[in-house]
Amino acid sequence: MNYVIIGNSVAAVGAIRGIRAIDQQGNITVISRERHTAYGRPLISYLLGGLITEKRMPYLPADFYEQHRVNLLLNSEVVAVDCGQKQVKLAGGDAVRYDRLLVATGGDPFIPPIEGLSDKEKVFTFTTWDDAAKLKGLAADIEKVVVIGGGLIGLKAAEGLHLLGKKVTIVELADRILSAAFDRPAGRIVAKKMKANGIEVITEDTVIRVEGEGAGISGVTLKSGDFIPCDTLVVAIGVRPAAGFLKASAVEVNRGIVVNDSMATSVKEVYAAGDVAEARDFFSGTKNPMPIWPDAYIQGDIAGTSMAGGTKGYCGGLAMNAIEFFKVSTISMGITNPADPAEYEVLTYLDPENYQYRKIVLQGNLLVGAVLVGNVDRAGICAGLIREKVDVTPFKDQLLAPDFGFIHLTREIRNALFAPVGKVA
Ligand SMILES: Cc1cc2nc3c(=O)[nH]c(=O)nc-3n(C[C@H](O)[C@H](O)[C@H](O)COP(=O)(O)OP(=O)(O)OC[C@H]3O[C@@H](n4cnc5c(N)ncnc54)[C@H](O)[C@@H]3O)c2cc1C
Repeated sequence: MNYVIIGNSVAAVGAIRGIRAIDQQGNITVISRERHTAYGRPLISYLLGGLITEKRMPYLPADFYEQHRVNLLLNSEVVAVDCGQKQVKLAGGDAVRYDRLLVATGGDPFIPPIEGLSDKEKVFTFTTWDDAAKLKGLAADIEKVVVIGGGLIGLKAAEGLHLLGKKVTIVELADRILSAAFDRPAGRIVAKKMKANGIEVITEDTVIRVEGEGAGISGVTLKSGDFIPCDTLVVAIGVRPAAGFLKASAVEVNRGIVVNDSMATSVKEVYAAGDVAEARDFFSGTKNPMPIWPDAYIQGDIAGTSMAGGTKGYCGGLAMNAIEFFKVSTISMGITNPADPAEYEVLTYLDPENYQYRKIVLQGNLLVGAVLVGNVDRAGICAGLIREKVDVTPFKDQLLAPDFGFIHLTREIRNALFAPVGKVA
């Protein structure tokens, strides 16, 4: 059996392990356009800011690929998939045959058409080790940076650049930063922390023109008419599933590659997992891309298992973001901004002075969402209560308490939540 995996990040790692748990003999070929073995993508801001060295980036044992007998093709880009001939085509013209194919290509940063942008030299995206290395390499020539986009990636870029001593301004179109993953108070607390560290945060505005002679940048003009002087731009307004090379194939691509609960696509023997896939949402059951690390691993594992002939059910992607900004830990999970408040009960505790915020979202007697800022110690329990659909009525009043934990749960609930986790570990 020839397994081919496009992409070599966390979804691919899950798939390699999933395949090898069942099939120790088949050939596994992993094709990646990056030059590195798998690394901690969320760490790139710390690499940029000098908090960690390049040594810390790879997270697998040095002999992982050898041990799992993986034929690793780095620096190789897949440009097309021929599902009829069952082969993938590489940029250099070579073709690789597969019996089972996994697309685990993640997302590509989206660059909007902004006047003047395409002529400029110091314009960066921020999603790869090499993006961070490039910015770090140019650090001596960078003084003032505008980061377009106040989502997770933009904020992480801003933090890394700030750690390098650069003057950073974030420009966000929405009325708050982190609008997709967090709610208003959480966004405000993170913005307060950013500002306290000297990062400027501008909301409800956007860059309409990049100014400067030739390839140089002198600043940006905003929709409001304001001018922000800068010499470098980081564009971080979002990523799009990296599935362009499937255009000529019959694989169904909606916002991401559409997959079922086995991570199988619309084409036989072709699977997808991770940020590139559009899998079932835990609550709504509708298909959504879920661009988060833990889900990418779970989907990869399920895909690998399915490819090798096994079965592992997917219980749906639970939106979860765990991020630290300037030592303030934040976690959001599940439904955090309920569309119809009448259907939900929301409990909150807010202490912005001390960067503390907790929000619990209940639907009937079930916990369906949580936002934790500052103290995130009990996030694992909250996630367990959501996933296992535990009736929280007996300890509802304690959910917001700073010390909410095991002690508030019955033995039965503790077993339900943690026995399966123990087995996996
Ligand atoms: C700065 C930053 C911070 C983040 N922080 C967090 C966090 O705190 N928590 C969290 O849960 N998630 C975080 N994420 C998101 C997380 O990194 C992703 O969800 C995760 O990496 C997705 O894994 P993946 O395997 O699906 O794809 P990716 O990690 O995106 O990897 C896909 C790989 O496929 C390669 N590829 C793409 N197209 C081709 C092609 N045609 N041919 C060959 N190779 C190709 C890409 O180059 C890439 O190496 C962060 C992301 C970034 C950028």
